[in-house]
Amino acid sequence: MSTSLTPPIESAVDRFLRYVRIDTQSQEDQSTTPSTATQWTLANLLADELRQLGVADVRVSDFCMVYAMLPANVARGRDVPVVGFISHLDTSPAVTGANVTPVVHRNYRGGDIALPNDPRQIITVAQHPVLDQMIGDDIITTDGTTLLGSDDKSGIAAIMTMIDVLRQNPQLEHGTIAVGFTADEEIGIGIEKFDVDAFGADVAYTVDGGTLGEISDETWSARMATVTFHGKSAHPGTAKGVMVNSIYALAQFLSEIPGNMLPETTEGRAGFVHPYSGVADVQDSSIRILLRDFELTGLDAKEQLVRELASATERQFPGATVAVDVKENYKNMREVLKDHPQLIENAFEAARRAGLTPFTLPIRGGTDGSKLTFRGLPCPNIFTGGHEFHSKLEFNSRRGLEKTTETLVHLVQIYAERATQQE
Ligand SMILES: [Zn+2]
Repeated sequence: MSTSLTPPIESAVDRFLRYVRIDTQSQEDQSTTPSTATQWTLANLLADELRQLGVADVRVSDFCMVYAMLPANVARGRDVPVVGFISHLDTSPAVTGANVTPVVHRNYRGGDIALPNDPRQIITVAQHPVLDQMIGDDIITTDGTTLLGSDDKSGIAAIMTMIDVLRQNPQLEHGTIAVGFTADEEIGIGIEKFDVDAFGADVAYTVDGGTLGEISDETWSARMATVTFHGKSAHPGTAKGVMVNSIYALAQFLSEIPGNMLPETTEGRAGFVHPYSGVADVQDSSIRILLRDFELTGLDAKEQLVRELASATERQFPGATVAVDVKENYKNMREVLKDHPQLIENAFEAARRAGLTPFTLPIRGGTDGSKLTFRGLPCPNIFTGGHEFHSKLEFNSRRGLEKTTETLVHLVQIYAERATQQE
């Protein structure tokens, strides 16, 4: 933070260390939102802390979503878009989030970091070259037995500290700011219970990314194909000329999928075809296939490939029929965000003012922001400084949390400046 500013009441690091100690692990296949009752503890704590920071309009919904609104402090506040910031309360079901004991490695001098309570867990420079840029920083890790929950309590700590800084420094001009802390992001369904109208933002950012400077306006466009092979079953003793074994049709189909088009052989901007689950039986066999691409044309081509391979298989196996069913999962949010270039421009400018070098990184997955974008709330993703999400090696640092906070503080001012300039 620039030296001319009054510091926040509490640092982003101290907030972060408090939040990660609260178990908020979500759980798959539950019938309620939130999927785990523990998420309420953090939701209610954050609501209280927001009120203590002087935010009057704070609410926790029946689905454990925290909504808050910080009023504009500029005279023409109504001309500034309401900017929203969203982070998720829960941590991944993949690794335990109970009894998280964060370890602060002060003034890091370089080298591998062994985690104290499990000697097998080592954050190595070889696998994490980013460590070379973190000399002198205070690195925050786990004790080796749990995940850290930097994903996404870093985002929460940065948003809370941004509010704190703005309250301490009324000279920083901003429009109305909407804050949303969401439950059950990691199991992919919480966002369905997020009330976009109640949130009240015109544009928003999820604060849920990685490396400092990384800003994402792209996710996969995603479909799922189910290919079903119908054969003819018969008693094997009298099957000659009668049985059509659909398992061989399935095997033939799979063997024709190009090996250079798979998740295990692609990276960067290349999409993939991913058969991931199926049933094999003489009468009926089926396979479910994920289709992923950043471009709709590329996605269409992958769907077309699946359909062509299915037809070819059908021709090769007289008596068998092959059916293809394709469902839309989600779309690349850039399809919408390309019409709102100022969201990325403003985030880039905010990162630059925080002394960072911004860059875009397409996300090889989906985000809550992509779903919100298609529900009418344009919502790219901003870094948090965190690394190695969903693992016992997860880490962030003092600089990571502070630079994320600083970027958010700049970002709300940029929206206020640019709205005024347009007068
Ligand atoms: Zn996350």
